[in-house]
Amino acid sequence: MCGIFGIQGHAEAANLAYLGLHALQHRGQESAGIVSAQDGRLHAHRQLGLVADAFSAETLSGLPGSAAMGHVRYATTGGHGLANAQPFTVEYAGGPLSIAHNGNLVNAQALRDELSAAGAVFQSDSDTEVLLHLVAQARGSSLEERLGEALLRVQGAYSLLLLAPDRMVAMRDPHGLRPLVLGRVRDAWVFASETTALDLIEATYVRELEPGEMVTVVPGGGPFSRRPLPAVPPARCVFEQVYFARPDATLFGQSAYAVRKRLGAQLAKEHPAQADVVIAVPDSGVPAAMGYAQGAGLPYEVGLIRSHYVGRTFIEPQQAIRHFGVKLKLAAVREVLAGRRVVVVDDSIVRGTTSRKIVKMLKDAGAAEVHLRISSPPTRWPCFYGIDTPSRQELIAATHGVNEIARYVTADSLGYLSVEGMLEAVRGEGYCTACFTGKYVAGLPGEPAALRALGG
Ligand code: AMP
Ligand code: SF4
Repeated sequence: MCGIFGIQGHAEAANLAYLGLHALQHRGQESAGIVSAQDGRLHAHRQLGLVADAFSAETLSGLPGSAAMGHVRYATTGGHGLANAQPFTVEYAGGPLSIAHNGNLVNAQALRDELSAAGAVFQSDSDTEVLLHLVAQARGSSLEERLGEALLRVQGAYSLLLLAPDRMVAMRDPHGLRPLVLGRVRDAWVFASETTALDLIEATYVRELEPGEMVTVVPGGGPFSRRPLPAVPPARCVFEQVYFARPDATLFGQSAYAVRKRLGAQLAKEHPAQADVVIAVPDSGVPAAMGYAQGAGLPYEVGLIRSHYVGRTFIEPQQAIRHFGVKLKLAAVREVLAGRRVVVVDDSIVRGTTSRKIVKMLKDAGAAEVHLRISSPPTRWPCFYGIDTPSRQELIAATHGVNEIARYVTADSLGYLSVEGMLEAVRGEGYCTACFTGKYVAGLPGEPAALRALGG
């Protein structure tokens, strides 16, 4: 997953991009980058690490101009080095061009092989660079035409921003898998993965880009909307609602906080528990736990404290660090737990390692019983559309039944939300649910590694 932000028409474009990226930091912590445009040239700075560490007053002052866009990265495909940090910038026949991508292209490897065979040289192993080559090679007379032509060849998930000296182009894939919104601050137009970035810079939310919509803004003009690709049924990522987006975001037209509370209330209906107290796995489980508590008529309390000085453990690339991370980031509140029957709500179980540690932590703190409730269905299939999930062999729910998982995590009971219940709570049709149902609406990669990841 990644976060993207763009602003066109503001004297402090790079500074606002920097602030906007802060509000998208939860979408990726591996690298951060900003590119600005001035006088026919693009200026770029990219670095590994968090936004606050990647930029200084000095690096920001080296990003002049009234248009800028930025990216925070969380690797799904490609390695972890600086070469894969975005935005990517190239010089092609049409001039300098930079691109920032949130999502994952499923046929990138096949396209890369084809482009390499024709002599293309790649600087990174990221799927986004493949897209850049396709745009550079396309024949259209404008950037928009070239992009539209390039995208005809691409399958998968993408919300994109392209910056050229004279324009910024935003594009959402025809399924609308990843979010992208349009905002306005004074005379400037703003694009962002989530409304959280608009709120931070005090921009107003105009609307979400529609699936398959391309929007251009130019100095003093726009937004100009186009639909260069054939329409397909929408398939917005339901996991953005469950987990990924920040709860204060307006996501796919709804409050993510309200959606998560409804997920929790629905979970309470489907899987009630004889318990004294409801607690959340912070931070992502909090709204669902509150919804569960309200739905069940039980008190909600803070039974786990999260340290905000370590990153999300799942995102840490190495298994060894991940294990260490659970203890680093969560602490149990004995006062809330001792002698009580506890419902603990989390948004998902991936490998099961986090849940197992949390249940142990709660019991060590004196909980009499621990009832684990998950505000999404069992994660049984890997995501190929931009969320980093392991192969089926590592997804505990792909190979184990609910009772077996309950035993593994040592919970007294375990309940997952049903697919129907989840869809009712997100109030919508047109969602991708592939990681829960295996229905891959936006295609599958053809490579052997991906097919191995699908093996159960
Ligand atoms: P695990 O220990 O592998 O079962 O990890 C489950 C935990 O990781 C849950 O607490 C989730 O909130 C979190 N999580 C689930 N999916 C992701 C993801 N794609 N990226 C980061 N964290 C995740
Ligand atoms: Fe989202 Fe799951 Fe679909 Fe991936 S497979 S896009 S995580 S709903």
